[in-house]
Amino acid sequence: MHFQWYPGHMSKAKRVMQEDMKLIDVVIELVDARIPLSSKNPDINQIAGNKSRVILLNKYDLSDDVQNQKWKEYFESQGYIAALVNSKKGDGIRKVNDAVITACKAKIERDRKRGILNRPLRAMVVGIPNVGKSTFINSISGKASAKTGNKPGVTKGKQWIKLNKSIELLDTPGILWPKFEDQRVGLHLALIGSIRDDILNSYSMSLNLISFLTMYYKGALAERYGIIESEDAVENLAAIAKKRGCLLKGGDLDLEKASGFLVDDFRNAKLGKVTLEFPPEIESEVLVEETDNSISE
Ligand code: GDP
Repeated sequence: MHFQWYPGHMSKAKRVMQEDMKLIDVVIELVDARIPLSSKNPDINQIAGNKSRVILLNKYDLSDDVQNQKWKEYFESQGYIAALVNSKKGDGIRKVNDAVITACKAKIERDRKRGILNRPLRAMVVGIPNVGKSTFINSISGKASAKTGNKPGVTKGKQWIKLNKSIELLDTPGILWPKFEDQRVGLHLALIGSIRDDILNSYSMSLNLISFLTMYYKGALAERYGIIESEDAVENLAAIAKKRGCLLKGGDLDLEKASGFLVDDFRNAKLGKVTLEFPPEIESEVLVEETDNSISE
């Protein structure tokens, strides 16, 4: 199984983002807290160059509290300023201002030494599709947001949202593309609903999910569906189909239908708060392979 997902509009998005980079001080990168690595595009390190970096683990309302903290620590250990946010509800949003200022400490100090005071920091939001960029921008802008419009010396058409006296945010986010270097990345993106369902069938997605849950979130399936969890993924799926009355015409179990239920339940956090990827100390090989930590500061 190999995914190709780099349509033409993504190369345009990359060019636009590279241009926008010239205008900003700090990159606010959103990842999905359930799959922090698969929802992260390592190319951003090269695109961001030496800009200050903030990483937001968005949708943390859907992911595992214990893993959220571990991921935050992990990204901090990699030189990011990291924060957990729920852009939909606004939880954690207020802390982002502080995160931006902390990330730009060195720049603020440089400005101060040169006698430049109170120059607003300019920020840009980036992330793969569906990670919550628009929701985040709306949430942090709030009602008080004022678009400052075109400014002299700024590329025509750029709109800046003044968040407060210290920070201005570019109103259009940079769209990164997911990077399918590994089948698991595709599987994880499909499971959270970030890529079209027809790329992977729900049956294989659900079997993978069941295997993962029975290993790392024992009891989650039992609790949701009232089944007795076995070590065999197909058996578990069959048990779910039975409990949910998923039957084909002849009376056989409809495993496709049960798979659909299961994946939907996962996406809506009905199986509990689940994180599909663990930071290095738990799964070192996978993460070392997939993470490019060369943030040049
Ligand atoms: P974009 O493509 O990156 O701009 O993503 P959107 O802002 O359009 O968000 C994609 C989906 O994720 C929408 O259905 C949002 O309501 C949802 N969403 C965004 N942030 C959060 C969050 O923190 N928690 C939850 N549960 N859903 C979120």
